[in-house]
Amino acid sequence: MTAPIVSFEFFPPKNDVMEQALWKTVKKLETLGPEFVSVTYGAGGSTRERTHRTVKRIVDETGLKPAAHLTCVSASREEVDEVIRDYWNAGVRHIVALRGDMPDGPGTPYAPHPDGYQNGADLAAGIKKIAPFEVSVSAYPECHPDSANWDEELDHLERKADNGADRAITQFFFDNDLFDAYRERAAKRGITIPIVPGIMAIHSFAQVKRFAGMCGTSIPDTLEARFEGLEEDHQQRALVSAAVAAEQVSDLRRRGVERFHFYTMNRCELVYALCRMIGLADVSQELEAA
Ligand code: FAD
Repeated sequence: MTAPIVSFEFFPPKNDVMEQALWKTVKKLETLGPEFVSVTYGAGGSTRERTHRTVKRIVDETGLKPAAHLTCVSASREEVDEVIRDYWNAGVRHIVALRGDMPDGPGTPYAPHPDGYQNGADLAAGIKKIAPFEVSVSAYPECHPDSANWDEELDHLERKADNGADRAITQFFFDNDLFDAYRERAAKRGITIPIVPGIMAIHSFAQVKRFAGMCGTSIPDTLEARFEGLEEDHQQRALVSAAVAAEQVSDLRRRGVERFHFYTMNRCELVYALCRMIGLADVSQELEAA
């Protein structure tokens, strides 16, 4: 079995301490030779400057290929286009195109900006018109809460692919059967872009449960039972997290998955160990020689 292709997701740090933690993580995970690393965009563009700064530092100080997340919520087309052009001029060649959520948070009915892009599919098309960026989009193995049914959900994924998206990255999930069913639905529709599973490294189960509630990810009872009572027991929780994630990625490998996107939460230990376990080697010497 050949080693899979991986990518890592980070969020822009809020302060110096978080900045140091992020760069330790970036440096450690760089040694695994990821296909790209992505940096999120805070709700409603709230981290616009910090995302840009983080992405620019990755371009300037590492050999990694960064992908900048970009949302179109609450922004005019002109404002969003300016960000896209700035990224191109800064040497960035990959954008994760997203709609985003309303400023009051997920669950608030979505209304596009009157002069803005309508959604992730519309934004993907807009980015491709500006420059030949690589574009990733989102996908939802448990159906996005705004979709009335699976037909609507898949129509939307199909629009993204038709508008030039190069790959779809999924929301995190814990039930691999749901991912398989989603891949099957997409394949039946004739959607051929790669659908890459987004894997959440659980550092705090309480926090993951909160995220899951907001985005519609189900938490299997077995997972809940495994973390019960461990919130304050960091060491034990880390071991359970590693076992849970290892089980999930190994099972996906058996189901033929060859690409993984890891939500790192800006921490390297768990994700590094997982990658080594699925066959990735330390390529730092090769990187130095190149
Ligand atoms: P879209 O996929 O464009 O739309 C969401 C859903 O709305 C669709 O699935 C579809 O059901 C429905 N819909 C949209 N348009 C139509 C239409 N014309 N007709 C019918 N139905 C329609 N959020 C951030 O704020 N910053 C980030 O950096 C960020 N990164 C993310 C990365 C990934 C990989 C994922 C999966 C999510 C990320 N999110 C991020 C969260 C995302 O912003 C939310 O899930 C948001 O609710 C939807 O954004 P989207 O781009 O997935 O929307």
